[in-house]
Amino acid sequence: MTETFITNMLIIGAGPAGYTAAIYGARANMKPVLLTGLQPGGQLTITNDVENYPGFAEAIQGPWLMEQMAAQAKHVGAEIVMDSVSKCSLLDPQKEDGYFIFHTDTGNIYKARTAIIATGAQARWLGLEAEERLQGYGVSACATCDGFFYRGKKVAVIGGGNTAVEEALYLTHHASHVTLIHRRDSLRAEKIQQDRLLNNPKVTVIWDSVVEDILSGGKPEAVTELALKNVKTNEKSTLDIDGVFIAIGHNPNTELFKGQVELDSEGYIITQPGTPKTSIPGIFAAGDVQDKTYRQAITAAGTGCMAALEAERYLGETE
Ligand SMILES: Cc1cc2nc3c(=O)[nH]c(=O)nc-3n(C[C@H](O)[C@H](O)[C@H](O)COP(=O)(O)OP(=O)(O)OC[C@H]3O[C@@H](n4cnc5c(N)ncnc54)[C@H](O)[C@@H]3O)c2cc1C
Repeated sequence: MTETFITNMLIIGAGPAGYTAAIYGARANMKPVLLTGLQPGGQLTITNDVENYPGFAEAIQGPWLMEQMAAQAKHVGAEIVMDSVSKCSLLDPQKEDGYFIFHTDTGNIYKARTAIIATGAQARWLGLEAEERLQGYGVSACATCDGFFYRGKKVAVIGGGNTAVEEALYLTHHASHVTLIHRRDSLRAEKIQQDRLLNNPKVTVIWDSVVEDILSGGKPEAVTELALKNVKTNEKSTLDIDGVFIAIGHNPNTELFKGQVELDSEGYIITQPGTPKTSIPGIFAAGDVQDKTYRQAITAAGTGCMAALEAERYLGETE
């Protein structure tokens, strides 16, 4: 049987942004309800060592960190529900007595006076079988997160946009050599970034080439080589490396909100600068769903905190 629930604060997403919003919301006595979606814990549940989340001298495991955040949110009184939003109506809450309406996969309906969208983003992958198998063992989509693990090693970055160039430049601080592999003969990144990259003695660019496979050299949990193909000549080659960073972009999880909350050309939720406020008063956004620049657990948590504080303020003002 389906049910309708009423809440002051609905949080959509169970990553660092969502759980932090839940902790702040619960401690402000807002009795928040958090819907986890299909990936409780979010992106950090698919990684191993996390070395840059403050508070831990030693590396911690991503899934463990997220379990701690969930436990803390529950401990302070947040309600955590395993369900996903499938449809919502945000444009005119007045039609429903001032409530935003959210339908979920289980058929339940949540009527919320404020909502925090923290549905995150997914890295785009090349679609190779080895890519999934070797994630965390030499395959990564985040240089800021994992670059440190490649001190003195040879890495490759795949892509040709701003992200790829930034990731490659960042990796030059750690790796002994960085090879950027791009399927075209020119980069899409800003000119100044291109100049920095092309003039860096630690960087080589392989143009017009795609990765056909990521090889482990017989070791189960390592990356040793890339199999490449030149798309102009069809010539095949291999490149010895210790790690590969896929930097071909991210997809924010905003399909649900299209046509309602204002999104940018890449689908990220637009927030007012320095705030989690979206184009709809009462709807806030936190974490990677509105951040294509930093994409870190700590920044997601920070904006989750801001969203809960703003939601509380909004309720106070509209009561
Ligand atoms: C492999 C990997 C390693 C990383 N390593 C690090 C690291 O070492 N340090 C670091 O700081 N950052 C790291 N990051 C980045 C970090 O994980 C993200 O920046 C962070 O998780 C973003 O948090 P978030 O709360 O915005 O969203 P996410 O973590 O993406 O969580 C999104 C949540 O939304 C939920 N959701 C989606 N759609 C719906 C829906 N329709 N209804 C309900 N819920 C929904 C999902 O189930 C999920 O719970 C890494 C990322 C990856 C992929």
